[in-house]
Amino acid sequence: MAAKGWKEIPIGGTITEAGNAKEVKTGSWRVMRPIHDKNKCTSCMLCWLYCPDQAILQTQGHMDGINYDYCKGCGLCSSVCPAKAIEMKAETEFLE
Ligand code: SF4
Ligand code: SF4
Repeated sequence: MAAKGWKEIPIGGTITEAGNAKEVKTGSWRVMRPIHDKNKCTSCMLCWLYCPDQAILQTQGHMDGINYDYCKGCGLCSSVCPAKAIEMKAETEFLE
């Protein structure tokens, strides 16, 4: 998404379209990456409930991984996981 100049931004930074947060891939802010271990996961869905960015993927009540486009790496999912199935790792470990 191209950055807007100040003359193009609505006065007061008003949000003029519903659902436009989807356009901003906040995952680019992340410094820590949650890694999901599906072998430990019991699909209790606590991570899904607590994730402030709705970045936990699920199908029919089963945890399906993490949407890294929107995950900011806050670590909340890892903190609440009773099965210790999400480990936080530094993004620097994934640099190529
Ligand atoms: S909180 Fe842990 S065990 Fe529960 S669904 Fe998430 S990763 Fe799986
Ligand atoms: S690290 Fe934070 S933003 Fe990313 S999936 Fe976990 S709870 Fe959501």
